[in-house]
Amino acid sequence: MPEKDKIRILYVDDDQDDLVLVTSLLQKTQAKNYELENAPTLEEALAKLKGKFSVFLIDYKFGKSGDVDLIKEIKNLRKHAPVIMLTGINSPIIDLEALQLGASDYLVKGQFDERILERTMRFAMRDAQLLESLENTAMKFRSIFERAGDPFLLMDQDSKIMEANPMFVNKFGFDPHLDKDKENYFFKDLFEDDAARNQMIDVLDHNLDMFEMEATMHAIGDNLITTLVSIVKQDVNLFQVMVKDLSAIKAKVEEDIYLKKFSSTGRIARLLAHEVKNPLTTIVLSADQLNLELPEEVKKESGDLIDVIRRNCDRINQLVTQLLDSTRFTELKTKNCSINQLLDEALEHVMDRADFKGITIEKIYQKDICEINVDSEKVKIALTNLLVNAIEAMEEGVGKLVLKTYIMSQHCRIEVRDNGVGISKENLERLFEPFFTNKPTGSGLGLTNSQSIILSHGGSIRVKSEVGKGTNFIITFNLA
Ligand code: ADP
Ligand code: MG
Repeated sequence: MPEKDKIRILYVDDDQDDLVLVTSLLQKTQAKNYELENAPTLEEALAKLKGKFSVFLIDYKFGKSGDVDLIKEIKNLRKHAPVIMLTGINSPIIDLEALQLGASDYLVKGQFDERILERTMRFAMRDAQLLESLENTAMKFRSIFERAGDPFLLMDQDSKIMEANPMFVNKFGFDPHLDKDKENYFFKDLFEDDAARNQMIDVLDHNLDMFEMEATMHAIGDNLITTLVSIVKQDVNLFQVMVKDLSAIKAKVEEDIYLKKFSSTGRIARLLAHEVKNPLTTIVLSADQLNLELPEEVKKESGDLIDVIRRNCDRINQLVTQLLDSTRFTELKTKNCSINQLLDEALEHVMDRADFKGITIEKIYQKDICEINVDSEKVKIALTNLLVNAIEAMEEGVGKLVLKTYIMSQHCRIEVRDNGVGISKENLERLFEPFFTNKPTGSGLGLTNSQSIILSHGGSIRVKSEVGKGTNFIITFNLA
């Protein structure tokens, strides 16, 4: 018989008569693949434990004798090892004790035949295998749960969080296992807007099997993130939830839209400039000629009309030039510099205005931030435009400007956040357009210029804003 088909039994008992009995019973069984090995003392039993046995038959007195817990030693080597105890007496106490010691079953000496012995061993081995495979499966799923790149949680019908994986803890900043100060955590509390929250509560109330929705959620560090929430019913009063963070995808889409818009505005501007500049030159030359040719008395009467023509031509010329300049990729003279320092220098330019309006400034700079390779003068202009806008948007005395620098996924990020008037949805769409302004004397070119400078560096600029709450500009540069 091949070695792998043998079922090796370690029989721990000092009674030689019992050994003879058990051996003869085994010989009588149908299956002939049993191989019995006897250990008559505890020392021998311990020495033999590593010998790869399929099942253990242990006389009751060896189960736990003195300081040595034989069953525990066996289970240390194989957690669910099938252990059957042999006792001289049958009593409910023995039954309980055997179980407590970790035995799978027990047999009363003299009260079992070969069939009972064989079946007891077979069942004990089968149970051990079952437990092992269950534990393996559980461990595999546990590992998927633990290592998942997306937040995962289990919640009940009230959306109370029962379990959450490390990614969830990372993203949302609390651990239902550790944060004992809060009695209960509810998934619904993470929702930003009521409509989405109610929709989710409705799904739970109606006990739907599966549901997917987009929702804005409160993430760690006061951040709002756009997510895709998938809810799957697992059991009565138990739901699985996966939360996919869509912020990065959304940001990329937004950046692409801005870049496309910038390029197409630039194309229109160049076309327009080309078509306007030639006739404009002709008008200016003609006005000059007229000025020379008109008789003095006519000029005395309507000479300032020529001035009006000249002045307006200059104005058109200037607008076209500004339009062209603000909508094209600019030439750069780059060198490595510290982003914290650039931001500080830009801030220096606007400090008098900020002080004048009594604005508080908070700097959250990453200290060891790497350098970026940029045209420092141009980037300073881009940042100054954002700072000026922020200061102008805030109320006197209560304004708070937060400047943040940090590294995120191989990029350098700058945030300029204010608690000013905010920007409406319609205006957000037109924000970077040339000449778009809400200010009586605004040029509407500040953001267009900032965007042009940042895009020329291969960077990106995005904005998040809420009317009445404030605005946050997020700029990204590649690291040097
Ligand atoms: P300007 O400042 O000359 O109006 P910009 O291009 O700098 O031109 O800004 C365009 C418009 O965008 C502003 O008029 C303002 O309405 C809006 N805006 C820009 N930044 C902010 C901000 N931080 N908060 C509120 N609104 C802003
Ligand atoms: Mg401005």
